[in-house]
Amino acid sequence: MDIEQFRKEAYKAIDQICDYYYALQDAKIPVVSSVEPGYLRPLLPSSAPQTGEEFALIAADYQNLIVPGYTPWQHPSFFAYFPTGFSFEGLIGDLFASSASNPGFNWTASPSCTELEVVVMDWAAQMFGLDPVFYNSSGVGGGCLQNTASEAALVAIVAARKSYMDKHPESKLEELVIYVSTQTHSLGMKAAIILGLQVRAIEVRSEDNFALKGDALRSAIEEDMTVGKRPFVLVATVGTTSSGAIDDLPAIGEVVKDYPDLKIHVDSAWLGMALVCPEFRETCYLKEINEFADSFCTNFHKWGLTNFDASAMWVRDRRYLTEALDITPPFLRTPQGEAGTVIEYRNWHLGLGRRYRSVKLWFILRGFGIEGFQAHIRKTINLNKIFTRLIETSPILKIVVPPSFSLTVFRLFPKPQRPDEPPIPEETLNEINQLLYGRLNARKDIILTQTKLNGTFCVRFAVGSRYTEEEHVKQAFHAITQEANRTLEAWRQ
Ligand code: PLP
Repeated sequence: MDIEQFRKEAYKAIDQICDYYYALQDAKIPVVSSVEPGYLRPLLPSSAPQTGEEFALIAADYQNLIVPGYTPWQHPSFFAYFPTGFSFEGLIGDLFASSASNPGFNWTASPSCTELEVVVMDWAAQMFGLDPVFYNSSGVGGGCLQNTASEAALVAIVAARKSYMDKHPESKLEELVIYVSTQTHSLGMKAAIILGLQVRAIEVRSEDNFALKGDALRSAIEEDMTVGKRPFVLVATVGTTSSGAIDDLPAIGEVVKDYPDLKIHVDSAWLGMALVCPEFRETCYLKEINEFADSFCTNFHKWGLTNFDASAMWVRDRRYLTEALDITPPFLRTPQGEAGTVIEYRNWHLGLGRRYRSVKLWFILRGFGIEGFQAHIRKTINLNKIFTRLIETSPILKIVVPPSFSLTVFRLFPKPQRPDEPPIPEETLNEINQLLYGRLNARKDIILTQTKLNGTFCVRFAVGSRYTEEEHVKQAFHAITQEANRTLEAWRQ
């Protein structure tokens, strides 16, 4: 394809994307794809073509074969997982980033790739109210974009391990313990598997709304230290995946004062975006994050209007990362790097090459402004309140934990039909709820995810698409009620 062909085909591609978004915004396409596992292989040749093909043919196949296999995460009736952001500003930013095709691993490899990231990460830190020590301009801490929150946690743990081993060179790797709670995202376990380290998942209680408490952390640490284990890092969560629980950072802060070698990574992949609104900062423990988190992560690509991927990570001291990850072979040496006047982001993440993500974030931050972000967060929280109020009016559905921002966890909870009817055993309730979820899952007009909270099977409702309006929330509630009634009817028979 030459430049003029690109011009022609790219215009057509943009038209295709616009048509798709019109259909999606008007909910004219189902939120669940109809394809079955393995649908694609029989539709494609068994090997790549020997010679190049006509672009028009490729574009048509993309539209006919690939698009139907999308899950449209931006659909107004998408209530599963956590939302993944999208904006046209971001899409255009990605297009430009792709046009540059710069693997900006160090300053010289792409000066603007590094410098734009340095600036937008400071903008973002300010907009979330992070302490200036986390700004790149502080020269001490700093922020960068990682692929995912899982990679941010992994590098934070690698950094914590290095810091601990430097202080305690006599320690053995098998003595080191990573702390998470049973509600921490699997990123803690994943990091432990990758690093070959022990991980301890501390139990949380439903009475505490599934948040990690200081006393539970303290007893786990004390128990482990008595048998010679070495606590070196805690992954605390502000907004857990299952129920939006917020670990008790004030109490955790008191505990860590007694264990200064324990590093704290705060994972707020989803909820962190709420920090853009000053009214949510206290609940999300911004003060505590600022006081003692060694690293903090939130995903712009979740609730932050940003096209996948852009996971923002800040560290209190950049040497924390660079001392653990800096390997500079001669071919990567540059005068600017040697002079120490520039940030060399390759020493802040796993890979060498890195995507030019800051372009899309810059476009989005400018296009929406802080007020645009705040409006998006507040709107979706209000939509969730509407959903919560509807569930509260239902005689058969029940909220399981206090709703968390844009997330509500509920279950089917039939009331006894007669006053002398015994309560339904928990095991049976779980079975009924699994049936309900099975029915919801079979629908094509709504998508939700399931979870288990200390053995209790529940359904999650997470709002976040820019296209979701009150009518979609009401339709979702109607669909859920319909399936809940059908489930009960089937179960009672
Ligand atoms: N942390 C939390 C609290 C999450 O909810 C999720 C995903 O939903 C993740 C981490 C994983 O994020 P990523 O896919 O960026 O690794």
